[in-house]
Amino acid sequence: MNCSSLIINGLRQNRLGEKVSPMKKSRILVCLLSLCASIFTVSKLGAQIPSQWKAHDMNRPRPPIVKPGAQALPVPPPSDAVILFDGKDLSKWRSEDGSPAKWIAVNGYMESVKGSGYLFTRQNFGDIQLHVEWATPVPPSGESQGRGNSGVFPMGLYEIQVLDSYGNDTYPDGQAASIYGQYPPLVNACLPPGEWQSFDTVFRRPRFNADGQLLEPAKVTLFQNSILVQDNVRVWGPTMWLQHLPYEPHPDKMPLSLQDHGNPVRYRNIWLRELPESVEPGPANPKTEPIITLQPAEQNRYVGKYKSPIGDIYTITREGQQLWARFYGPVKVELVPHSISQFSLRWTAATLTFDLDAKAVPKGFTIEIGGEQRYSKKIE
Ligand code: MG
Repeated sequence: MNCSSLIINGLRQNRLGEKVSPMKKSRILVCLLSLCASIFTVSKLGAQIPSQWKAHDMNRPRPPIVKPGAQALPVPPPSDAVILFDGKDLSKWRSEDGSPAKWIAVNGYMESVKGSGYLFTRQNFGDIQLHVEWATPVPPSGESQGRGNSGVFPMGLYEIQVLDSYGNDTYPDGQAASIYGQYPPLVNACLPPGEWQSFDTVFRRPRFNADGQLLEPAKVTLFQNSILVQDNVRVWGPTMWLQHLPYEPHPDKMPLSLQDHGNPVRYRNIWLRELPESVEPGPANPKTEPIITLQPAEQNRYVGKYKSPIGDIYTITREGQQLWARFYGPVKVELVPHSISQFSLRWTAATLTFDLDAKAVPKGFTIEIGGEQRYSKKIE
């Protein structure tokens, strides 16, 4: 039983006058303390709360309707994609209890079967680029949240709503392409029921430290039918009807899930790409070369104009204690001396090797950058 269920169950037992065991009381206390700590953490990250609207408020403004352009579906997966459904079978999916998926797969699509439960991928994922194509039932049946409801849950916790929102009003934070109960889409980009439409998502998982504290919330960018509908939004926590659940620490990789909400919603062509960390780490052992100090009189030997083989004029100047080179236009770059003949650029992986005469005066230099070498001769 998770924390929220434990607390609710305990409150219900207490209200009904039922005896709550000491063990259960202590677990509830731990959960309440954890909940308070989480609320404190979320309040510290107040910038992630997108608005002062309560969840599911029908007074909230409706996202404007934008008609998508002609769709070119299905979108073929790239070479590094993990194919989760290619129209043939549900072998990459399971039910929540681990048994085989109970949705139907026919005619190149899969379809939610009422009462069959959510689907979960057999493989776990963290940061992903996800492509999903879906279609809501035709003719449409039901209203509001009862029409074509399903959902795509990265990590099984954070719902990107699937709903027939074509002429079907509901609370904006629960319409198609919403982050359920949190963020309405920027616009309503829905196609009519029965038409295939696409979600293209960039999902970044939440980050927790070793103590389980939230460092970074989950983030979602979403295109529906090639229209931006979620712009790198910071998810408050697991999505839930009626409740705002705080984050609880969880593994870095978890299954992707699809929702059975009792409506025969169809999916096809589901694939994803696993993404690297958003900031690439630098080299483990960066190569550093010693830097020497040149006296102004020594620096002055390098000052002048240099002509490349294709006629470009490069200029080296001295300003204070630094030598600067201008290769193109007014932008100057600092030259860092490692010896009297060997220099590098301060911010760029490039070297300048000066061709010195017997008095250590440059006759020219060879610049090496991007695997190319070019010699420039000193002309002034
Ligand atoms: Mg749903």
